Amino acid sequence: MTENSLVKTQLQAVLERMENACIASGRPVDEVQLLAVTKTVSPQLINEAIACGVTAIGENRVQEYLGKKDELHLSGVKAHLIGHLQTNKVKQIVGSVDMIQSVDSVRLAEAIHKASLAQGICTDVLIEVNIGREPQKAGVMPEMLLPLLESASCLSGIHVCGLMTIPPILETSAEKRKIFSEMYQLFIDIREKKLDNIDVHTLSMGMSGDYYEAILEGATTVRVGSAIFGQRPPK
Ligand SMILES: *Cc1c(COP(=O)(O)O)cnc(C)c1O
Repeated sequence: MTENSLVKTQLQAVLERMENACIASGRPVDEVQLLAVTKTVSPQLINEAIACGVTAIGENRVQEYLGKKDELHLSGVKAHLIGHLQTNKVKQIVGSVDMIQSVDSVRLAEAIHKASLAQGICTDVLIEVNIGREPQKAGVMPEMLLPLLESASCLSGIHVCGLMTIPPILETSAEKRKIFSEMYQLFIDIREKKLDNIDVHTLSMGMSGDYYEAILEGATTVRVGSAIFGQRPPK
């Protein structure tokens, strides 16, 4: 089997498992979007995945994405930045992606707002939440989410579309479901607040090892890399 048809097979398997999770939880199968995570993946392989029907890709690093962007067949495909973003890289990435999923401070939200206004655009963002309260991890602590949203609600250069999280690595399916359900509860709580300029409809959670559980607990976007493209080289 060539590498390319392997991607096709693996993509199909992921889509099937996503569908099974939707069926198991009584959700419409078109309610959950697949974001193919393409960090470290070559433009050739990304284009193959796009040819097989991938409609959204996620990249972690500004430099890597901008370096391969011109080689990608992005017509009809959304690109999301999902990795931690430093404020000094904001100007480079705003206008080059459809969404920034990893906003976790007022300072970063303001930087994206300013860079967007300078280009005459409004950038869709998600707020990243550190649901497992891991000290080394990006994301706002759950109790800081509402204050951050209140500040973001005044920034016309960004549009908050929902929440994103990277939970701790957990062993059992029950543990995974528990943390995703905590995140879903937060999503529902925030959605009911009805803040100006904040439309909470996207809940981005679930990766190769846990997207099934994430969908069971209410994810609307899953971010899957290695299950489609194979193991990444070690950092
Ligand atoms: C790498 C990455 C993923 C995908 O991880 P896999 O385990 O390869 O599916 C998802 N989200 C973020 C933020 C990532 O950095």
